[in-house]
Amino acid sequence: MDVTALLAKLYQQLPAENTGEVATYIPELAKVDPTKFGVHAVTCDQRAYAYGDSEECFSIQSIAKMFTLTMAYQREGNQLWERVDVEPSGTPFNSLVQLEADKGIPRNPMNNSGALVVCDILLNYLAEPKKDLLAFVHSLTGDETINFNERVAASERETSARNRALIEFIRSFGNINNDTERLLDFYCTLCSLEMNCRQLAESFLFLANQGISPCTGKRIVSSTMTKRLNAIMQLCGLYDEAGEFAFRVGLPGKSGVGGGIVALHPGDYCVAVWSPPLNPKGNSFYGMAYLEAFTSEVGESIY
Ligand code: GLN
Repeated sequence: MDVTALLAKLYQQLPAENTGEVATYIPELAKVDPTKFGVHAVTCDQRAYAYGDSEECFSIQSIAKMFTLTMAYQREGNQLWERVDVEPSGTPFNSLVQLEADKGIPRNPMNNSGALVVCDILLNYLAEPKKDLLAFVHSLTGDETINFNERVAASERETSARNRALIEFIRSFGNINNDTERLLDFYCTLCSLEMNCRQLAESFLFLANQGISPCTGKRIVSSTMTKRLNAIMQLCGLYDEAGEFAFRVGLPGKSGVGGGIVALHPGDYCVAVWSPPLNPKGNSFYGMAYLEAFTSEVGESIY
């Protein structure tokens, strides 16, 4: 199969009208060109295929929650699940509603509530949290050009009423220990990570390869941990659209409000797509459509 030609053809076949809208609640994200589109696919044996703006960096936002989750899981092991659950929530990414009934234990680590608890846990382990996080991200591929975008982090810190509310509400149940501003700063910096589609697909390739990074040959997590991380992505990675994503795309995946989606086929490949306009659930409109067509054409979903 000529995968490079297929990637171009699938772009041409996207719905003519993109009904999505670029995220504006973080002002810095509103400036992004909505017509950008990139895709990069890479196999576990490192054959790579790309189309469009695949080398242009964008804000990966919530996709980065998988990095902090992996770091916290490495350190806490299965104790981690005492502070954050692994159930799909069926609620938007920034929802507060289930926390009261759930006594401050977030439904899963992909929603903001769960990601904030994971960041709170990591702050107790990391001497220099931002530096250590960046070092971890670099260690996944060996690419040390990946960095945060300070303007995006500052922009989000200034408009973080909802995340601040989540922190204080969870704290009232005893499930947050660190200072609010310190935690918010770490979380907003995490969400400001910038990558291009190639870097993103390569960074997630260890999850398609039983926990070993094909780029460096180093083990990141055990194969059992890999299974669990992929299960969490499948059930929670697209929030209240996780079912729709499994139904249409059929792969574990993670989205961000920057318009990126990364998805992977265990044992086979990882694919990252970027198109900034989002559907009402906060996931890339073209990203979902493209990945649906991709797994249908390639005939490679996990189902
Ligand atoms: N930084 C964003 C927020 O907390 C991440 C949301 C997302 O990408 N879904 O609102």
